[in-house]
Amino acid sequence: MKTPVPDYLQHVLAQCHSNQLGALADYIPELAQADPNKLALALSTVDGTIYSTGDDEVEFTIQSMSKPFAYALAIHHLGLDAVLAKVGVEPSGEAFNQIALDKNNNLPKNPMINSGAITTHSLLPHEPEISRAENLRRFLSELAERELSFDDAVYASEVKTAFRNKSIGYMLRTVGVLNEDPDEIVNGYIQQCAIKVTVKDLAKMASVLANGGVQGSTGKRILSRAVVRQMLSVMMTCGMYDAAGDWLTTVGIPAKSGVAGGIFGALPGQVGIAVFSPKLDEHGNSVRGVEIFERLSRDMGLHVMEGTPSAQTIVQRRYILGTKQNVVVYELRGVLQFTESEMLLRILQDEPIANTCIVLDITNISLIHEVGARMLFEGVDRLIEDGHTVYVIDSEKLLEQKHSHQGHAVVIREELEVFLNKLVQQ
Ligand code: GLN
Repeated sequence: MKTPVPDYLQHVLAQCHSNQLGALADYIPELAQADPNKLALALSTVDGTIYSTGDDEVEFTIQSMSKPFAYALAIHHLGLDAVLAKVGVEPSGEAFNQIALDKNNNLPKNPMINSGAITTHSLLPHEPEISRAENLRRFLSELAERELSFDDAVYASEVKTAFRNKSIGYMLRTVGVLNEDPDEIVNGYIQQCAIKVTVKDLAKMASVLANGGVQGSTGKRILSRAVVRQMLSVMMTCGMYDAAGDWLTTVGIPAKSGVAGGIFGALPGQVGIAVFSPKLDEHGNSVRGVEIFERLSRDMGLHVMEGTPSAQTIVQRRYILGTKQNVVVYELRGVLQFTESEMLLRILQDEPIANTCIVLDITNISLIHEVGARMLFEGVDRLIEDGHTVYVIDSEKLLEQKHSHQGHAVVIREELEVFLNKLVQQ
């Protein structure tokens, strides 16, 4: 059997091929030279499997799609509060290159428009020999799992005509949002925009975001969950500029576009998607890119508001062990977020008050959210208060702590079978 996913992606691409609407970005002369017919699509699952079709080996400049990654790197480097002190998180409802600040506090409204992105660029880590743009290139290369490079021609071409971005830089310097030489920061920002990527690179990067910051193929945590959440939230509300509301209602995937014709999106827990088609609409978003995302979202139910329904099951098996009838084993399965924890605690509530031994096996839990761990231990403490002895079998080391909130050492890092054998022999 061959999986039908590649055929489906090809089919979507073929259907959008004939759409010739839109125009190339021409305010960056080099981008006006792009081949308007190029079309590519890539999808990456959270475990790092990539499907791609069309011109999927063609490199183009990342442009504004670098903005959310620069934002993440700045937060990772300085902490969220330091970044929020310089750039807000409110959608602006204006074009991406609007020369304006938030009237209330003189700060850029969000990191996805140019004023916010130029400011964010200034917050990136840098040393005398390693520029901010170079640090971002290294970070993106790690996410893409290959060495990315700069497009010097696009960079030179944009620098020559960057009158608007220079105005924004000088405005930021005037109000004290930037403290450095605005020319240097704007040039660095333009270089950040000139990093070359393919749709496969972007889909890989996006899948790390969809996977909560962990790279599926290597198992490495690259960003914290909190940074990813911040980044995706800003992409959802501001990523498509003044088309953000349209995008949220029709596509519903946190996403970011760039003027070279790329769009990437990351749906938490599910997929990373990237498209490339150079002709843009009036908002500066790829025309065929938007069409492809709309189709994928509709056909595959990828809208964030569809939510992921809880599996509605957490206890896979409950059984009583031994002849003394005093060991009750719960084998749990699924994810442990608020809904499932609530369900589990409701079930445990029915355990009669007694001195039974309760064994909770979490080996087959695929993900424990912070709230899941908190509620689990809260339940454990309450069971102990009721007179039970409790063990949590965590052979996969999913829990960071070994003690409950009340300090009971309940976590056992052993296989269930091994532990139960010892228990019955006691
Ligand atoms: N480098 C471009 C600019 O600053 C990026 C804009 C974009 O992709 N929307 O104008």
